[in-house]
Amino acid sequence: MISSDNEGQILAMAIDPIEKKPLFEFYPGSTILSIGTFGCNLACPWCQNHALISSRSSSNTTTPTLAVLASELLNRAIANHVLGIAFTYNEPLLWHHTVMEISKTFKAHGLKTVMVSNGCAQLHIVEKLLPLIDAWNVDLKTTSAADYRAIHGDLNTVLATIKAIIAHGAHLEVTYLIVPNFNDSKAALLQLADIIFELGVPVLHLTRYFPAHRCNEAPTSEKTMNEALELVKSRLKECHQRETTKTHTSVYLGNCSWVHNL
Ligand code: SF4
Repeated sequence: MISSDNEGQILAMAIDPIEKKPLFEFYPGSTILSIGTFGCNLACPWCQNHALISSRSSSNTTTPTLAVLASELLNRAIANHVLGIAFTYNEPLLWHHTVMEISKTFKAHGLKTVMVSNGCAQLHIVEKLLPLIDAWNVDLKTTSAADYRAIHGDLNTVLATIKAIIAHGAHLEVTYLIVPNFNDSKAALLQLADIIFELGVPVLHLTRYFPAHRCNEAPTSEKTMNEALELVKSRLKECHQRETTKTHTSVYLGNCSWVHNL
C-alpha cells in the first residue's frame, strides 16, 4: 500500500467557522475542527499556506496510530461542540489514509466530515473518500488546461473529481480565486460559467486574491470582482448572488434549483 510521509502528522489545527472553508450552504453558522499537514501536489505562486505545505514535522515527533489520532480528535470535537472535522489548509487528498480513518470515526459518532481540496487526484482515491465525506469545497484554479499544467495540475482531473462528487450526491461548493492576469479574462470567466452550468455545480464562490508566497501582483480589485460577477451572472441565467464582502468571499452564486433557503 502506498502511503505519504505526512500520514497522521497534524501540523495545523483550529476551530473555524464553516463559512471560512468556504461552505455557505452546509450548516451555516456552525464551527468545525479543522486540521492540515504538510504537502501539496500543486504549485500555486500565490499560495497563502506555503509555509505549512513546505514544512516537515520534527523527526523526534512520535506519530500516534491513526485510530488513536481519530479518537483524540473526536474527543476534542465533542468537547468543543463543533459540527465535525474539516481536512483543509494543505491538500488533503495527499493524506487520504488519515482522512479515511478519521472520517470513519467521526461519522460513526454522527459528526460531519468536510474536504477542502484542489481536486487533483486519481479518481479511485476520490471514490474511496466519497462515502466518508459529507461536504466538499473544490478549488477550480483556471479553465485553461495549459495554465493548470503551469501550476502542476490537470483541468480534466479536477473536472472529473467535481463530476464524481455531484454524481455521488455529496454537498459541493466550488471556489474560483480570481487572480489578476492569470484567470480573470472575460473569456476565462465566461468559460467558467459554462463549466459550472454544464457540470451542474450548485454553488460557486468567486474569491479575491491577495499577494502571498511568490506573487506580488496587487490584490484583485473590487472592480474586477464586480465585473467577474456580472460576466458569470450574464451566462448563468438562473442564479442568485448571495453575499459580497470586501475582503475574502466576494460573491456567492447558487443554482436556484438546488440551493435551499433562497
Ligand atoms: S492548491 Fe492550495 S495549498 Fe496547494 S499550492 Fe495551491 S493554494 Fe497552496
